[in-house]
Amino acid sequence: MLKRILTGDRPTGPLHLGHYVGSLQNRVRLQHQYDTYILIADVQALTDNFEHPEILGDNLFEVALDYLAVGIDPDKVKIVVQSMVPELAELTIYFLNLVTVATLERNPTVKDEIQQHHFGRKIPVGFWSYPISQAADITIFKAELVPVGEDQLPMIEQAREIVRRFNSLYAKVLIEPKAMLGNVARLPGTDGGAKMSKSLKNCIYLGDPPEMVRKRVMSMFTDPTRIHPTDPGHVEGNPVFTYHDVFNPDKAEVEELKERYRKGKVGDVEVKERLFKALDAFLKPIRERRADYAAKPDRVREIMMEGTRQGRTVAQATMEEVRHAMKLDYKLDRR
Ligand code: ATP
Ligand code: MG
Repeated sequence: MLKRILTGDRPTGPLHLGHYVGSLQNRVRLQHQYDTYILIADVQALTDNFEHPEILGDNLFEVALDYLAVGIDPDKVKIVVQSMVPELAELTIYFLNLVTVATLERNPTVKDEIQQHHFGRKIPVGFWSYPISQAADITIFKAELVPVGEDQLPMIEQAREIVRRFNSLYAKVLIEPKAMLGNVARLPGTDGGAKMSKSLKNCIYLGDPPEMVRKRVMSMFTDPTRIHPTDPGHVEGNPVFTYHDVFNPDKAEVEELKERYRKGKVGDVEVKERLFKALDAFLKPIRERRADYAAKPDRVREIMMEGTRQGRTVAQATMEEVRHAMKLDYKLDRR
């Protein structure tokens, strides 16, 4: 039997370049070597969007389109809608007993996100405890590998701890997952912020039309110490050059631009113009495949329904084992 991959995304908006380098690229690369499940994590996204839940339904389809656009093979990969697998909620409830408040409070990613949301002490319990439901997402599919960006490492560590605790308390049913980081573990935002993120509105989306990509590139943050194009510039920590390094396949051009930038011999506009060209070439086939699928919405819905059906079958089988291990399979109907 093939080993399993589980990973996913929150349907809080369409997917962006950060998703691609952090995780999607690995999913596509490994989709024929692993039995792959991709969760559209609407229940997790609800934890900080419960006041306007319609966002999730609106983006479900967009996220699925992005998967298909980057080359996820719908005949191999199961695209699963989280809220349509109620077994995940059940496993989450059992896992809540296995984690302490102190452990949750130490999660560095959740700490950052609490600050980002300005929650203060008014953190919804659902949001604060989402690492536990995410552990259920991963383990119910018995995934061995989880392709993710760097911000997710504490979540995988939490899942591993829960598995060890469950397996030693009850029976060896669950598998300890391993994280797999992408080509770029954390792509910065167009604003120079540490992470490109839907919530921070500093993204270039995979489905953006060329004019939008150009606009976003042209308004990118560069080197704040450089006022005139003749001032020597900084390449390190400059997101325009970070993107050149990642997305421009013409390495000689990138080196030449860096050289001239450091000497104050090239303006931001030219560097950005070349970045736009490279990004546009990268995004063109993705955009075209996205448009093809967008024209067949029934097919996309069918892919999600079938993926969810298969995912749910796996989840139900794991829950039988979990209930048996926890001695919760009372069989009251047996005479
Ligand atoms: P939100 O702002 O709603 O949290 P997000 O942009 O952080 O959205 P998620 O759906 O939370 O996206 O993340 C899905 C996956 O993509 C995770 O594995 C995450 O690590 C990865 N990822 C997201 N942004 C980046 C990034 N900038 N660099 C690398 N990986 C990323
Ligand atoms: Mg996120």
